Amino acid sequence: MAVPPKAVCPTCSKNFDPVKARAASSTSLGPFCSPRCRQVDLGKWLNEEYRVPVEDDSTEEGRSSEGGEPS
Ligand SMILES: [Zn+2]
Repeated sequence: MAVPPKAVCPTCSKNFDPVKARAASSTSLGPFCSPRCRQVDLGKWLNEEYRVPVEDDSTEEGRSSEGGEPS
Protein backbone atom coordinates (compact mmCIF):
# COMPACT_ATOMS: atom_id res chain seq x y z
CA MET A 1 0.00 0.00 0.00
CA ALA A 2 1.31 3.39 -0.88
CA VAL A 3 1.65 5.96 1.82
CA PRO A 4 -0.51 8.98 1.01
CA PRO A 5 1.50 12.12 0.38
CA LYS A 6 1.63 14.41 3.36
CA ALA A 7 2.58 18.01 3.64
CA VAL A 8 2.58 20.59 6.41
CA CYS A 9 0.86 23.88 5.78
CA PRO A 10 3.25 26.77 6.55
CA THR A 11 0.35 28.90 7.76
CA CYS A 12 -1.61 26.65 10.11
CA SER A 13 1.04 23.92 10.59
CA LYS A 14 -1.57 21.31 9.77
CA ASN A 15 -0.80 18.03 8.08
CA PHE A 16 -2.70 17.73 4.85
CA ASP A 17 -2.79 15.81 1.62
CA PRO A 18 -1.52 18.14 -1.12
CA VAL A 19 -3.10 15.99 -3.82
CA LYS A 20 -6.53 16.24 -2.20
CA ALA A 21 -6.13 19.95 -1.52
CA ARG A 22 -5.17 20.50 -5.14
CA ALA A 23 -8.15 18.51 -6.37
CA ALA A 24 -10.49 20.52 -4.16
CA SER A 25 -9.22 23.84 -5.47
CA SER A 26 -9.08 24.98 -9.07
CA THR A 27 -6.24 27.36 -8.31
CA SER A 28 -2.70 26.52 -7.37
CA LEU A 29 -2.28 26.44 -3.62
CA GLY A 30 1.46 25.99 -3.50
CA PRO A 31 2.52 24.53 -0.16
CA PHE A 32 -0.68 25.61 1.56
CA CYS A 33 -3.62 23.45 2.61
CA SER A 34 -6.30 25.88 1.47
CA PRO A 35 -6.78 29.14 -0.44
CA ARG A 36 -7.38 30.84 2.89
CA CYS A 37 -4.02 29.80 4.29
CA ARG A 38 -2.43 31.00 1.08
CA GLN A 39 -4.09 34.38 1.51
CA VAL A 40 -3.05 34.59 5.15
CA ASP A 41 0.57 34.00 4.21
CA LEU A 42 0.40 36.61 1.47
CA GLY A 43 -1.11 39.10 3.91
CA LYS A 44 1.61 38.34 6.41
CA TRP A 45 4.29 39.24 3.90
CA LEU A 46 2.45 42.40 2.89
CA ASN A 47 2.02 43.44 6.51
CA GLU A 48 5.67 42.98 7.25
CA GLU A 49 6.64 44.95 4.19
CA TYR A 50 4.40 47.76 5.34
CA ARG A 51 5.58 47.58 8.92
CA VAL A 52 9.29 47.65 8.28
CA PRO A 53 9.53 51.11 6.66
CA VAL A 54 7.06 52.60 9.18
CA GLU A 55 8.95 51.26 12.16
CA ASP A 56 12.25 52.28 10.69
CA ASP A 57 11.04 55.82 10.09
CA SER A 58 9.64 56.38 13.59
CA THR A 59 12.78 54.93 15.16
CA GLU A 60 15.01 57.25 13.18
CA GLU A 61 12.86 60.24 14.06
CA GLY A 62 12.85 59.36 17.75
CA ARG A 63 16.60 59.03 17.72
CA SER A 64 17.36 62.37 16.09
CA SER A 65 14.79 64.27 18.18
CA GLU A 66 16.30 62.78 21.32
CA GLY A 67 19.56 64.52 20.56
CA GLY A 68 21.51 61.51 19.43
CA GLU A 69 24.21 63.67 17.90
CA PRO A 70 27.18 63.92 20.23
CA SER A 71 28.87 67.29 20.30
ZN1 LIG B 1 -3.34 25.69 6.32
